[in-house]
Amino acid sequence: MNAPLPAHAVRTPAAHWIGGRFVSARGGATLPVVDPSDGAPFAAIGRGDADDVASAIAAARAAYDGAWGRTAPADKGRRLAALSRAIGERAEEFAWLEARDCGKPLKQARADVAACARYFEFYGGACDKLHGETIPYTPGYGVLAWREPHGVTGHIIPWNYPLQIFGRSVGGALAAGNACVVKPAEDACLSILRLAELASEVGFPAGTVNVVTGLGAEAGIALARGEIDHLSFTGSAATGTIVAQAAAVRHVPVTLELGGKGPQLVFDDADLDAALPAIVNAIVQNAGQTCSAGSRLLVQRSRYDETLERVGRAFAALRVGPAFADLDCGPLIRASQRDRVAGFLDEAVAAGYRVVARGTIAADAPAGGYYVVPTLVADVPADARIACDEVFGPVLAAMAFDDEADAVRLANATPYGLVAGVWTRDGARQFRMARAIRAGQVFVNNYGAGGGVELPFGGVGRSGHGREKGLEALLGFTQLKTVVFRHG
Ligand code: ADP
Repeated sequence: MNAPLPAHAVRTPAAHWIGGRFVSARGGATLPVVDPSDGAPFAAIGRGDADDVASAIAAARAAYDGAWGRTAPADKGRRLAALSRAIGERAEEFAWLEARDCGKPLKQARADVAACARYFEFYGGACDKLHGETIPYTPGYGVLAWREPHGVTGHIIPWNYPLQIFGRSVGGALAAGNACVVKPAEDACLSILRLAELASEVGFPAGTVNVVTGLGAEAGIALARGEIDHLSFTGSAATGTIVAQAAAVRHVPVTLELGGKGPQLVFDDADLDAALPAIVNAIVQNAGQTCSAGSRLLVQRSRYDETLERVGRAFAALRVGPAFADLDCGPLIRASQRDRVAGFLDEAVAAGYRVVARGTIAADAPAGGYYVVPTLVADVPADARIACDEVFGPVLAAMAFDDEADAVRLANATPYGLVAGVWTRDGARQFRMARAIRAGQVFVNNYGAGGGVELPFGGVGRSGHGREKGLEALLGFTQLKTVVFRHG
C-alpha cells in the first residue's frame, strides 16, 4: 500500500553532513530508518558520536570565522532566499520524504514543506535589518549597542516536524549570522540531511550548516556538552532538563521549546460552527504529535453536551491510515509512542472516564504500522493524568467549567504553558482571558497549532523558555554588545 521510495531517500548515504559533504560516522555504525506506516526499515543513518559532533562544530567554527562570517548581511539574505526557492522547487520531493520518514499524511507534509520554505524567505528578508541602538549617556560620550551572532549554534530537533523546526531554528540562527550544527531526531533525519545538502547547492559556504545524526544519548548530549555558543532544543521536558544541565557546564545560553497541554476554552457565546473544525484539527494534526496541540477541551457547562456531541461526531468520522493514503491521521512515529498513547487511553477507560467517540483505522492499513485511533474522552477530572500530562497522540480530554474564574483555573492547572485557544464573542472577555491564561501564545476565535512563521513562539513553565519564530527569535540568536566612546 505504501508508495515507492522518494528518490532522495534511496540515494542519501548513511552519513553526516559536515563541512559541505557527506561524512560517514567515525565508528562506522549506522541506525535503521523505519517507516511508521508499516514498521519496516527502508534506509539507514549514521550513528554519530562525540568525535563526529566535535568535527561538525569545528567545521561550523571555520565557516563562522571564514567565508560565512565574511559574507555581507544582504548576501546572507540572498542565500536564505535562494534556499527558500530551492525548497519550493522541490516541494513534492520533500513532502514525500517527510511523509515516508515521519508517517505524516501527505497534505500535512506538504504544509510542512511550505512552512519550511517560508521560514527561509522570512528570515532571508531579516538578515540586513538587524539594527542596533544608540543610547543617550553622559555628555562627552556616545554609546552604540549592536547585535552580534553567538558564533556556532547547536540545534537539537525532534521528530514531529523536522522540516518546520529546522526552518524556524536554523533559519533564525543563520539570519543572525551564526553557523549551525544540527542534531535531528534519530527517528526522522532524512529531510534535514537533504536541506543541509541543498543549502550547499544554493551557495552557503561549506560548514555553515552541518548535520550529525545519531542517538540523543550519544550525539545529542555530545552537542549539548560541545564547544558551541548557543543551544536551541525542541523536544520533551525531561530531555530539555538534561540538555540544559549539560550546556550549563560551559554556561552556554539555551532556548528550550518543550511540551504543552493546550487548552481550548469554549464559552457559552462561542460560534461553534467556527470552533469545531479548529478544535478537531488542533488535536488531529500530525496525529496529536504537536507540542502546541489543543489537547484539552474546556467547555462552559451550558454548552457542554452540545459541544461534545458535535466534536464526537467529527471524531467518529476521522480515518487513520498510512502516510500516502493521505487520510485524517497517519501512524505515530514509533511503537513505543503508540504503546505510550494506548496506555493513557487504557488508564482513562479503567478509571471510568467516558469515551464519547473514536475514529477508525482503514481496513487496508499495514498491520505493522503504529496506528492509534483518535479518541474523545469526556468528564475527565482536572487532575487526571490524561488531563495534565502531554499524551502526544490524537487524544482529546474534555471537561466542563462554570464561569470565567473556573475556566482560568482549569486552563492554568497544568505545569505547561505553550498555546491556548479561547472561543467567545465577548470582546472584554477575550481580553481578560488573554491576560489571565499562562501561555506563550493565546489564539482568540482561532487556533494555530504552532501559529505562523511571523508569530513569536515559546512557553512558560514546563513548556520552556525563550522564543523562536518571528523577529523575536533573532534576539535569542544574537547577543548585544554595548560600545561606549568618549569623545571629550
Ligand atoms: P522523544 O522522547 O519523543 O524522542 P526527546 O525530547 O527525547 O523526545 O527528543 C528530542 C530530541 O532530543 C531528539 O533529537 C533526540 O535525539 C534528542 N535527545 C534525546 N535524549 C537526549 C539526551 N539525553 N541528550 C541530548 N539530546 C537528546
